[in-house]
Amino acid sequence: MNTRKIAVIGIGKIAQDQHLPVIDKSERFELAATVSGRGVAHNGLPVFRTAAELYQAMPEIKLVAICTPPGVRHAYVREALDAGCDVLLEKPPTPTISELDDLVAYAAAKGRILFQTWHSRYNGAVDRARDILAADGVRRVRIDWRESVRKWHPGQDWVWEPGGFGVCDPGINALSIFTKIMPFPVFVEKADLQFPSNRMTPVDVTIRFKSGRQDGPEMSAHFNWLEEDGEVWTITAETGKGETLTLERGGTVLKVDGQTEVEAPSEEYEGIYAHFAQLLDEGRSEVDGSPLLLVADAFLLGARENTDPFEW
Ligand code: NAP
Repeated sequence: MNTRKIAVIGIGKIAQDQHLPVIDKSERFELAATVSGRGVAHNGLPVFRTAAELYQAMPEIKLVAICTPPGVRHAYVREALDAGCDVLLEKPPTPTISELDDLVAYAAAKGRILFQTWHSRYNGAVDRARDILAADGVRRVRIDWRESVRKWHPGQDWVWEPGGFGVCDPGINALSIFTKIMPFPVFVEKADLQFPSNRMTPVDVTIRFKSGRQDGPEMSAHFNWLEEDGEVWTITAETGKGETLTLERGGTVLKVDGQTEVEAPSEEYEGIYAHFAQLLDEGRSEVDGSPLLLVADAFLLGARENTDPFEW
């Protein structure tokens, strides 16, 4: 099996929690360097302050994983494609739809591979839920996604800046599962966004969805970022047969009428890198903007309300 050299750009929480350890144990990838504005190296490998320095010093590197916040990704991806690299991109891909469209077109024009990831989709329980809903239909869906911003984004002020998504940063994970398991397209019908009065992005979001179907199932979501009592990352769906599917713990557990049907340890990033290897072998890009479209629509349609100020 051939091993490909890869560099990781942006050595923050997710790069250190997942990308670097998963690459370290991968048989398909070998870490060659890091790019870190703060100079964070890994295992004594070369570290560059900017991607431009990496491309100049190590032109043999033809793969990068971009793990920065979304705001800077458009420029970083274009720069990587210009340097002749194939690119793996963290979620959410970009802060705007037009930037994502441009990256898809630019990668195609450059003949390079762009793999835009949604980590929550890499769970067997999610695939099983999708198969059941495809076979049995959907009567109702409810998404409850609550976690602590202090625990999952400690001190990350970018999440509160325009383009930082606020609570839709984790919420888009739920929507990435939702758009994978639904057997038909879904749309935002109504959204209510609560913004801390001293911040630029929402801390609490409720969304009502609709579909183009006559039997229109009831579908709704609630995201909250001030849940200090553990995580609630649950999607509940009633099938056309009246069974209740419950996807729990971020999509790693599936219960059918309360009985556990699938339960597996989370190996989302192992799945992401295995899939990236496959895309590279096949010379194929993969980008799905549908979760980003739903978040963008929630912001377009959302009614804004100010709530208590947020301090770390
Ligand atoms: P983070 O801890 O803030 O790390 C991002 C890193 O990107 C920074 O440490 C910095 O690393 C680099 N960077 C480059 N330009 C930056 C800029 N303008 N502002 C801030 N940092 C910049 O964030 P994270 O939690 O790793 O999240 C990064 C992305 O991964 C987000 O899109 C997030 O949704 C996604 N993600 C996060 C988690 C999680 O558990 N936190 C889980 C899954 C996915 P250097 O100093 O090394 O350059």
